[in-house]
Amino acid sequence: MIYVRGQRQDYDGWAQRGCSGWGFDDILPYFARVENYEGPAGPNVGTLPLTGVTERPVIGEAFIAAAEAAGHVRNPNYNSERQDGFGYYQVNQHNGRRVSAADAYLKPAMKRPNLSVRTRAHVLRVDLTDGRATGVTACIGNTEVRFSARAEVILAAGAVQTPQLLELSGIGDPAILSPLGLTVRHALPGVGANYIDHYCTRMNWRVKQPVTLNEQTRGWRLALSVAQYFAMRKGILTLGTGLIHGFVRTRPGLAGPDVQFFFMHASYANAAERKLDRQPGMTIGVTQLRPESRGTIHAVSPDHMAAPSIRPNFLATEEDRRVMIEGMKIARHVVEQPPMASFREVEMAPGPICRTDSDWLEFARTNGQTIYHICGTCRMGTDDMAVTDPELRVRGIAGLRVVDASVMPTIVSGNTQAAVFMIAEKGADLILAGGNA
Ligand SMILES: Cc1cc2nc3c(=O)[nH]c(=O)nc-3n(C[C@H](O)[C@H](O)[C@H](O)COP(=O)(O)OP(=O)(O)OC[C@H]3O[C@@H](n4cnc5c(N)ncnc54)[C@H](O)[C@@H]3O)c2cc1C
Repeated sequence: MIYVRGQRQDYDGWAQRGCSGWGFDDILPYFARVENYEGPAGPNVGTLPLTGVTERPVIGEAFIAAAEAAGHVRNPNYNSERQDGFGYYQVNQHNGRRVSAADAYLKPAMKRPNLSVRTRAHVLRVDLTDGRATGVTACIGNTEVRFSARAEVILAAGAVQTPQLLELSGIGDPAILSPLGLTVRHALPGVGANYIDHYCTRMNWRVKQPVTLNEQTRGWRLALSVAQYFAMRKGILTLGTGLIHGFVRTRPGLAGPDVQFFFMHASYANAAERKLDRQPGMTIGVTQLRPESRGTIHAVSPDHMAAPSIRPNFLATEEDRRVMIEGMKIARHVVEQPPMASFREVEMAPGPICRTDSDWLEFARTNGQTIYHICGTCRMGTDDMAVTDPELRVRGIAGLRVVDASVMPTIVSGNTQAAVFMIAEKGADLILAGGNA
């Protein structure tokens, strides 16, 4: 539910890389079409309801005060021109409930006579005839069904499966396709390259007072929260995974923040099993906003149901390692400020034994994981490694477009869904304008 536009420089950078029409001033009207603010964040009346997180736990207020004590600013609207600072996240939510893309866009359109939705349909490949996409073949139940396209085919399978689908259709790097026995229908070496993602470490602390979700999600307190949610659509059940943001710069001279924090008044006993600690605890997720490291996603088999291979290559560059280390040091420094004194008991992870840069790096390597912001695997551009052009058309194939996170040339400075909504709004205009015959 976390909604972050990113920074002006993200999109201006896209334009500078040859993606004309994608600079910040060009795409701002599309954010305006997306965003419907209920609260003080802005006057937009778009399609997706947004609101500030309504919960204001005492420990959260103390955390923001601690950030101020450490020299950072309080920022009530990071989706404005200035992203720096600490405050509450904005979420796509209405009346305490998440509003998904399907809720906001698809459900209201379901009555249209020119729309039919087929669920449980797994697309196997894009059908190609003489260099043109003519439809897709999907598996429904045990049957292969062909859908033909009068105008064009739009792929929106996401940054993991759009490149895989292209490869399974014979569009990609011959050096990847041929060894798998896939016939090369169109050589496009950038498919599945340029994987970008946000890598996140989770630092956590034992908290002195019972003011965290660890205790509030058990026994009678949980029952009370459930009752509160159904009676008033308020309380801890309205929360997603991020309560308070921090956007900070790890060194002077940067054009904008390069690290994002996710503060939550909860801590995992076992992160993989998503089980909370029994004792009070809090967590700060630390992520580098614009990593340099690049990975790959490629099909590993002609079997359409086989998952592709994902090689993220996290922390591959010196700069990425430096930013993660500095980001975690800043998080510790904030928590050590006086406003947190009555809450902070002990740092559990990485813990006080972590002192040197190599300790921090070791913690980052062993503790970090993706926060599922994969993008860039069919990036747009005008060079030979670009998969789509700036109109999102697959280069060299007529009648085929990609509209999803895979087209981003670089990752945006924040959670990725806002950029995807914007790409979809602009993509809709490009589709309506035609030009993909
Ligand atoms: C657990 C999790 C939490 C997240 N939290 C946030 C957050 O709080 N804020 C934020 O900004 N971002 C968040 N993200 C990231 C955000 O969800 C993605 O950036 C965004 O959904 C990407 O949109 P997309 O349209 O590119 O792909 P997707 O949303 O992945 O959509 C692709 C669709 O294509 C379908 N599909 C794939 N292959 C096929 C096939 N062969 N045949 C038929 N259908 C197919 C999939 O089922 C899926 O419905 C989160 C992601 C995850 C996984």
